[in-house]
Amino acid sequence: MSSIDVIEKFLRYVRIDTQSDETTGTSPSTMKQHDLARVLRDELKEIGVTDVFYDEEHCYVYARIPANTEGSDGPALGFIAHMDTSDEVSGKDVKPRIVENYDGRDIQLDGEGRIVLSPVDFPELKNHKGEDLIVTDGTTLLGADDKAGIAEIMTMAETLLQNPDIKHGDIKIAFTPDEEIGRGTEHFNIERFGAQYAYTVDGGKLGELEYENFNAAEGIIRVQGRSVHPGDAKNKMVNASLICYEFQSLLPVFQNPMYTEGREGFFHLTEIQGSTESATASYIIRDHDDHLFDEKIRIFKAAGEFLNQKYGDGTVTVTVREQYRNMIEKIRPHMHLVDNAKKVMTDLGITPIDNPIRGGTDGAALSYKGLPCPNLCTGGYNDLGKYEYASVQEMRRVVEILLGIVSIYSK
Ligand SMILES: [Zn+2]
Repeated sequence: MSSIDVIEKFLRYVRIDTQSDETTGTSPSTMKQHDLARVLRDELKEIGVTDVFYDEEHCYVYARIPANTEGSDGPALGFIAHMDTSDEVSGKDVKPRIVENYDGRDIQLDGEGRIVLSPVDFPELKNHKGEDLIVTDGTTLLGADDKAGIAEIMTMAETLLQNPDIKHGDIKIAFTPDEEIGRGTEHFNIERFGAQYAYTVDGGKLGELEYENFNAAEGIIRVQGRSVHPGDAKNKMVNASLICYEFQSLLPVFQNPMYTEGREGFFHLTEIQGSTESATASYIIRDHDDHLFDEKIRIFKAAGEFLNQKYGDGTVTVTVREQYRNMIEKIRPHMHLVDNAKKVMTDLGITPIDNPIRGGTDGAALSYKGLPCPNLCTGGYNDLGKYEYASVQEMRRVVEILLGIVSIYSK
């Protein structure tokens, strides 16, 4: 498989600007995501994939590599990566650079040395000593999230097609738009995709395996106050902004993103607007554990009820809207997806790392739509910014993981 180079593919894909945009409301959110979709469609055909479908309307690329094992009754197995990059930092004119044999010291990203990727800020850099790192020029993000995943899946596909001696079942591939703005699965056609199980390849550190994410809800409180001239306000004024403040004080202080990690959930005040007359506060509520999540929603609503008892009915209106659920519920009946990925890693000498996601993933949404879908590592780090980098050696190992998973399911 020496002629197929995951890095060559990666360096080509990151040069194509595919930034998504939360504000357009269209699907895909930006037309430039088609630029990469077309490249991937053509490339899939070039490497010999006969069954390629490009959803030109919504910008999804689907491909299938049929099983090459006689009478294989293994499942149709899917691999998914997203084409868009974050709207936080520009993805235009990305100029990737390879730092060979990294020495563990500061990496100057820009010409003037003002933007430095340093192990002081990112201690995990020390783990990459001796590796080759792909970095930015300090003006854009890199786009390893998730073009590393795309390059790895493409390399896996090409390797399978060039080496028919590698036995495999039905392999399905999909590249999706708009993951970064939370709309990656909006027009995902699970039926067309046709996989029984899938993995998203959209994680970070080599060995990481994600199959738990937050349960998530949005909570909004609206407070109706009563504005009166402050000189004449005794027993008359109700200050809506102060009631918002009081609402926050009724929530558990340490269940806040500032004080939580791992599987600890939180209430996060994302926005507050208020006057004496009226006020609104927006929260997100998160917990991995179903029971603790329900408990948080109960506390949130109870805080509103308490304030209504104190200030009168209708003072505080609480609305809670569920956003997404922890995929573990949908993965648990199919734990072979996790066990097999771990076995493949262990056999390759890679230590599997369970990483409960403190957010959501496309895989979580797909799992709830009926396609169980854990998330695999890519070897990319520091997503969403100009300090993003990827390890050449780790990316090559991820390709080995993908091929290992393909093999294990062919048996
Ligand atoms: Zn991603």
